[in-house]
Amino acid sequence: MKTAIVTGGAGFVPSHLVDRLLADGLRVIALDNFVTGNRSNIAHLEDNENFSLIEHDVSLPFDVEGDVEYVFHMASPASPIDYVQIPVETLKAGSYATHNSLDLALRKNARFLLASTSEVYGDPEIHPQPEEYWGNVNSIGVRSCYDEAKRYAEAATMAYHRAHGLDTKIVRIFNTYGPRMRLDDGRVVPAFIGQALAGEPMTIFGNGSQTRSFCYVSDLVDGIWRLMRSSYNLPVNCGNPHEMTIREFGEAVARHFGIAARFDPKPLPPDDPKVRKPDIRKAQELLGWQPIVEFDAGVAQTIAFFRNQQMA
Ligand code: NAD
Ligand code: UDP
Repeated sequence: MKTAIVTGGAGFVPSHLVDRLLADGLRVIALDNFVTGNRSNIAHLEDNENFSLIEHDVSLPFDVEGDVEYVFHMASPASPIDYVQIPVETLKAGSYATHNSLDLALRKNARFLLASTSEVYGDPEIHPQPEEYWGNVNSIGVRSCYDEAKRYAEAATMAYHRAHGLDTKIVRIFNTYGPRMRLDDGRVVPAFIGQALAGEPMTIFGNGSQTRSFCYVSDLVDGIWRLMRSSYNLPVNCGNPHEMTIREFGEAVARHFGIAARFDPKPLPPDDPKVRKPDIRKAQELLGWQPIVEFDAGVAQTIAFFRNQQMA
């Protein structure tokens, strides 16, 4: 039985990855310090003998016993309100924690995957964003603790690949949504769904003309798992190219509730990217991957999750 390490395993995306790896017959060790994750995301695995959890801050060195085939470095605060509240922890998750995860992979002769982000493109001047684009990032802005740390993490990953021959992968994740997001994490999907559930207007930042492209979590996890098993070592975008404005997103959520969208305008946060859409030709060609979950189906699943949570 092969063993996978998943840092940040109790988080939204990583906990779905843990489920997928277990379903595919792996033994999984998750490391998490619960800074933004939630025990309930992995509670269903308590009696699973192939799963174990180590409560640990991966910005501090760590080791595990036995052979390891795969190291997925997924740990990092990922929502703008999280990384603005804990900027130093966010920098460490991209830097120290990436080194600690790379060092573990090196010691174990394991494959390594970094969860990077579309934020490495910053406020992009090229649209849609191909992997070859170097980005437009404000190195001292409020988001820099996140996007510069991820850019550093990519540099560290490539250095271990080039200097030590480590078999490394970099996935650039675009906006992903689905069950197990935190209702209060401030990202637009839980924010608008939570507000619609509460009968409140949606807090739209700026005039809502900025665009995003939302990928359902099971699609993303499938892309990550394919990339880890591929022989490709340069960054690969994973996201859904279905682009919409934030206003259109709010209107779509309202339609699911059978109500007219009501908006509560708020100032646009600094450095908020005006557009974002992945060019996924690389993932299509190299991994045979593309998203398959329709937007309305994914939104319905996500609403059902938040409804159930409220009733629990
Ligand atoms: P999340 O906050 O739900 O998950 C991150 C997990 O990492 C949490 O469980 C948190 O407790 C844990 N963690 C953070 N710092 C840690 C540390 N020092 N030690 C141990 N555990 C730590 O966020 P998510 O949205 O699931 O994001 C997961 C990964 O995917 C992150 O690396 C993020 O940057 C990346 N990503 C996510 C998105 C998205 O749209 N969700 C987009 C781009 C990139
Ligand atoms: N946004 C919004 N209202 C909210 C939360 C976010 O209008 O309550 C906007 C935000 O300004 C951004 C987009 O929605 O333009 C996506 O924000 P999110 O935090 O989900 O992700 P990111 O900015 O990292 O893409």
